[in-house]
Amino acid sequence: MKVVRQPAVSTLLDAMNQPMPRNLLGLDLQELTTLVDSAGEPAYRARQIFHALYAERVLSLDQASNLPKDFRSTMADSGVSVGSPAIQSRFVSSDGTVRYLMQLWDAETIETVWMPEGDEGERGDGSEAGEEPEGCAHGWRRATICVSSQVGCAVNCQFCLTALLGVRRNLNAGEIVGQVISVLRDQKVLPPNDRINLVFMGMGEPFLNFENFIKAVRLLVEGVGIPESRMTVSTAGIVPRIYDLAAEPVRPKLAISLNAPNDELRTQIMPLNKKWNLEKLLNAAREFPLRNRERLTFEYVLLGEINDSDRHARELVELVRGIKAKVNLIALNPGPGIEFKTPNESRVLEFQKILINAGVPAYVRRPRGRDIYAACGQLKRTIELAS
Ligand code: SF4
Repeated sequence: MKVVRQPAVSTLLDAMNQPMPRNLLGLDLQELTTLVDSAGEPAYRARQIFHALYAERVLSLDQASNLPKDFRSTMADSGVSVGSPAIQSRFVSSDGTVRYLMQLWDAETIETVWMPEGDEGERGDGSEAGEEPEGCAHGWRRATICVSSQVGCAVNCQFCLTALLGVRRNLNAGEIVGQVISVLRDQKVLPPNDRINLVFMGMGEPFLNFENFIKAVRLLVEGVGIPESRMTVSTAGIVPRIYDLAAEPVRPKLAISLNAPNDELRTQIMPLNKKWNLEKLLNAAREFPLRNRERLTFEYVLLGEINDSDRHARELVELVRGIKAKVNLIALNPGPGIEFKTPNESRVLEFQKILINAGVPAYVRRPRGRDIYAACGQLKRTIELAS
């Protein structure tokens, strides 16, 4: 029996074009069904593996006690493993934020951030993610996990530490889901009972890794049990993928990282604006189909004396007029190698006031974990940061 199954499992995973090691995490129910079928196992084994991976969140085949021992051994002998990213280090902020350095199978590292109480980025987006729930047994009312989608990033926003890395590779769906699972296990949190929000705002541009990102979203909804209404994806403005997201039946809410109210300034701080300018970006935003109560989010990183004047605020009002959206203001999180200044609090509040007075909902995002470089735009591999 074993002799027949081993090559079959290997052959299937080879056909799935998975590099070594052969990881189960990231496979959907259909792929698992094909896998168990090729191994001569009944179809319900696929549902058992799916449940073990995503609902029980096992870290190794040994822990998948709902599977027969000989089947687990067969898979292990074929080089198949669960494939969760390994937590290499944890950096704990004075505000409770934890920045995780995770190691992938090829020794690349990524960062994932746990924010008890979140950063209030969901406020006013019309979803249940932004509502205030009762406190829970852990002492927080809701927590947010900030998830990476690539190793590094190619987009080159001038205010972002991750940009300094360049892009090294895309994460596969299992590596995206695996970050969430590793953090949930580490924090001993159990969705759907515990209230978790996900933001795809870590390292990388999710829309430059769209297929893996959207597959991970489906697995997180169907397998891990985190509703799509508690997920937000942020893009720097990869316009064609905004239309693709709009067509997805299961999708997170959309946030657009805007950061400037005119093309000249936006091109200076976000060079990708040359390819997809504000007209194209705002057209895509206007056409984005919103669900009941949903609002788009525009993120605006305030850079001292660059994009934070009253005039910029008024230009921003005109730019987003007529779009069912809110603006999240983020005072620049400083970092080594970043030339810009952080505006003072009164400037941030003045900017916010101009938006609110003009009828544009505007919120100031709470900086989380600045002391451990876990805040927005600060994620950069710790190894390089220390060198
Ligand atoms: S802000 Fe986001 S898209 Fe821009 S360089 Fe940083 S990680 Fe990439």
